[in-house]
Amino acid sequence: MEVKTWIPYEIWIKQYREYLKSDYWLERRSFAIELANYQCQRCGIIKTKNVKLEVHHLNYKRLYCELDSDLMVVCKKCHKILHKIKDQKRKEQLKKRQKQRQKQRQKQRHKKR
Ligand SMILES: [Zn+2]
Ligand SMILES: [Zn+2]
Repeated sequence: MEVKTWIPYEIWIKQYREYLKSDYWLERRSFAIELANYQCQRCGIIKTKNVKLEVHHLNYKRLYCELDSDLMVVCKKCHKILHKIKDQKRKEQLKKRQKQRQKQRQKQRHKKR
């Protein structure tokens, strides 16, 4: 199933959260972890009782039928870092867009004068 980009984000995130609870995903997830030799692919820590591994989506192009290359097995720590980096990038992009808009507005103001 291909992800339809036109669905509103709030609906999409709901579906995605449901999907993360599904049996299919749990199996897909443990398969990915097995494939990664029970090791974090970022820092190399090995799964133990205290170290839990999680599976991160590198992209959401193929939800429900992810390829191995769409997923990254990481420990909790690295997963947090990955999402922080993602958030930062998103924020930076937002800032850039806002600045561009401000510039455009200023230009328009100048034209009016
Ligand atoms: Zn790690
Ligand atoms: Zn993630």
